[in-house]
Amino acid sequence: MPTAPRSAARPAAPAAKSASRASTAKPSAKTASKPRAKAAAPPGAEAPLAKYNAKPDFTGTAEPTGKVGRRKAKQLGFVIQKHWASRLHYDFRLELDGVMVSWAVPKGPSYDPATKQMAIHVEDHPFSYNTFEGDIPKGHYGAGTVIVWDRGTWEPVGDPKEGLANGKLIFHLHGQKLAGLWELVRISKPGEKKQDQWLLLKKRGDAWARSIDEYDVITALPDSVVEKPLGLVEEREPRRSAPTTSPA
Ligand code: MN
Repeated sequence: MPTAPRSAARPAAPAAKSASRASTAKPSAKTASKPRAKAAAPPGAEAPLAKYNAKPDFTGTAEPTGKVGRRKAKQLGFVIQKHWASRLHYDFRLELDGVMVSWAVPKGPSYDPATKQMAIHVEDHPFSYNTFEGDIPKGHYGAGTVIVWDRGTWEPVGDPKEGLANGKLIFHLHGQKLAGLWELVRISKPGEKKQDQWLLLKKRGDAWARSIDEYDVITALPDSVVEKPLGLVEEREPRRSAPTTSPA
């Protein structure tokens, strides 16, 4: 099925900002219809969000379009979206270089270091996707309901780009449900399998590790943190905090 070019198929970008300014601002050179040449990616390199934007068709879905963020934030965001698609899974997304590097985790995270969860590395998502909750309509890629299951900030241990390339990312999470030291490790060699398989696991050795028999965060805290904000788990359960790392 041929799809219309994204620019034609997409609803116009939100015009709220420019509209609110329009009454006072002089006519500016900024026009929505101004055609812009696409920057050519170097040979062999893939433009950021190319895979995300290659999804069949965004018409009729509230999901945001794929633009690379230009945030100057000192802290990196993470989000976990609970997604009732053809199968329930948890989309685990870490901000890096203005996009959300993403893994689909069928069973969701576990605080039990012995419970290693399969995590399929999927296409980067735009930063603006972090706030998305709602329904992806039938017929669209990933059709089903999405809620923000957790969000907060993450701190890589070591160079995250190197870690991503080498298939071993270690990081702290500061979320409303998840905290402590976690790891994503690649188990399939690149290109070896159809899916880029990783494992998501809780690292041992901090006060956050807990046996799944004692505590299952997936069943204990099933809801949206947008609808039911919890605040940082490190503040709710400070006794679990490891010796404090100095604030950035
Ligand atoms: Mn998903």
